[in-house]
Amino acid sequence: MRNALSGHKKWQPAWRDAAPREAYDIIIVGGGGHGLATAHYLASVHGITNVAVIEKGWIGGGNVGRNTTIVRANYLLEGNEPFYEWSLRLWEGLEQDLNYNAMMSQRGVLNLFHSDAQRDAAARRGNAMLLHGSDAELLDRDAVRKLAPFLNFDSARFPIEGGLLQRRGGSARHDAVAWGYARAASGRGVDIIQNCEVLGFLRDARGAVTGVETTRGAIRAGKVGIAVAGNSSRVAGMAGLRLPIESHVLQAFVSEALKPVIPGVITFGAAHFYISQSDKGGLVFGGDVDGYNSYAQRGNLPIVEDTCESAMALMPMIGRARLLRSWGGIMDMSMDGSPIIDRAPVDGLYVNAGWCYGGFKATPASGWCFAHLLATDRPHEVATAYRLDRFATGRIIDEKGQGPQPNLH
Ligand SMILES: Cc1cc2nc3c(=O)[nH]c(=O)nc-3n(C[C@H](O)[C@H](O)[C@H](O)COP(=O)(O)OP(=O)(O)OC[C@H]3O[C@@H](n4cnc5c(N)ncnc54)[C@H](O)[C@@H]3O)c2cc1C
Repeated sequence: MRNALSGHKKWQPAWRDAAPREAYDIIIVGGGGHGLATAHYLASVHGITNVAVIEKGWIGGGNVGRNTTIVRANYLLEGNEPFYEWSLRLWEGLEQDLNYNAMMSQRGVLNLFHSDAQRDAAARRGNAMLLHGSDAELLDRDAVRKLAPFLNFDSARFPIEGGLLQRRGGSARHDAVAWGYARAASGRGVDIIQNCEVLGFLRDARGAVTGVETTRGAIRAGKVGIAVAGNSSRVAGMAGLRLPIESHVLQAFVSEALKPVIPGVITFGAAHFYISQSDKGGLVFGGDVDGYNSYAQRGNLPIVEDTCESAMALMPMIGRARLLRSWGGIMDMSMDGSPIIDRAPVDGLYVNAGWCYGGFKATPASGWCFAHLLATDRPHEVATAYRLDRFATGRIIDEKGQGPQPNLH
């Protein structure tokens, strides 16, 4: 009230706008959710505060502020489910940890299935989730109808047979997550340096990375971690590293505000569409990634048409809502759909990448595990499978993450 009535002139900045110093113990490249969470846990869990987060744009300008905010831990495979369950537990305590309202809302995530085969797969996944200490409920058609009576249950092509529900899943306010982590890290002494692009890496005579070259000069560091999401291949390429990652655009959409209608998050199991409703009332939905590679952070009509067709097939009443806006973000698509948290084969360099379209929900655990790796040089126990060399050794974690692609479920 005081700040509003005084013309918004007295707000305390949430974090210090730091100028780069000559050297740090650790530099994190990328001020998205993952980079900021890493800095926060380096400071709060490992007591390492001589840290800089270097961001080429502004905090919240990347995918952390562009996603559809879905948080869940509904994976099947051994390499994934413990990690995402740990992430969900961190989400459950995040607001207390950061002392910041991230609007974490556990309103449930429901994956619909449309055939007997899909029911079997959902039951198997639900059992794996339960075995890992997570929560899962297999709903029949009537139970889904009670939750979401507005869906098209009688579609001849895609009848709804039931759904796998994770009640502890839900959503959080994405930009508040970035701001909360930035504020907490900065409060513990981390330098957050915006408008500073990394252009290359400093190397010693052995070829080890000893810092970064930026638009604001060279900055030395004991270790450098990269967490640049859709730009992973480009930034790793500056150190001569070729990652098993392609960049693709993913778009999302929001409608005008409606009265509360959608109880949680709903994903269509037969076409490219998932939806939730924001606290402001907008229907927030999305579909598939673009099929071709791109670094262009914008949308295109074919995906708009594909998503709207799928939306109309699942919930025809959405055709009455007006679309407010759409946007795009660049996804770092790994070749098996799972991420990488590992030391690079170049000394001094550490990689956090390959989050595909599901990295928002991973933010706390990704930061936790990357901080653990940077501080101890050992992988965290829930992230031991996220090795870079798995693509060479064949130990891939072939799970596409229950995202918008039904063909990949
Ligand atoms: C439309 C859309 C919907 C999505 N929906 C979901 C969802 O519902 N649930 C979910 O779990 N995930 C979702 N995702 C994925 C999720 O947003 C990402 O996986 C995650 O945000 C990536 O991590 P980040 O937050 O650190 O990325 P970013 O916020 O993109 O952070 C990376 C930062 O690195 C910076 N950077 C890049 N190059 C350089 C450089 N050379 N120097 C300095 N800085 C650099 C960028 O400017 C950027 O700020 C969605 C993504 C999109 C686009």
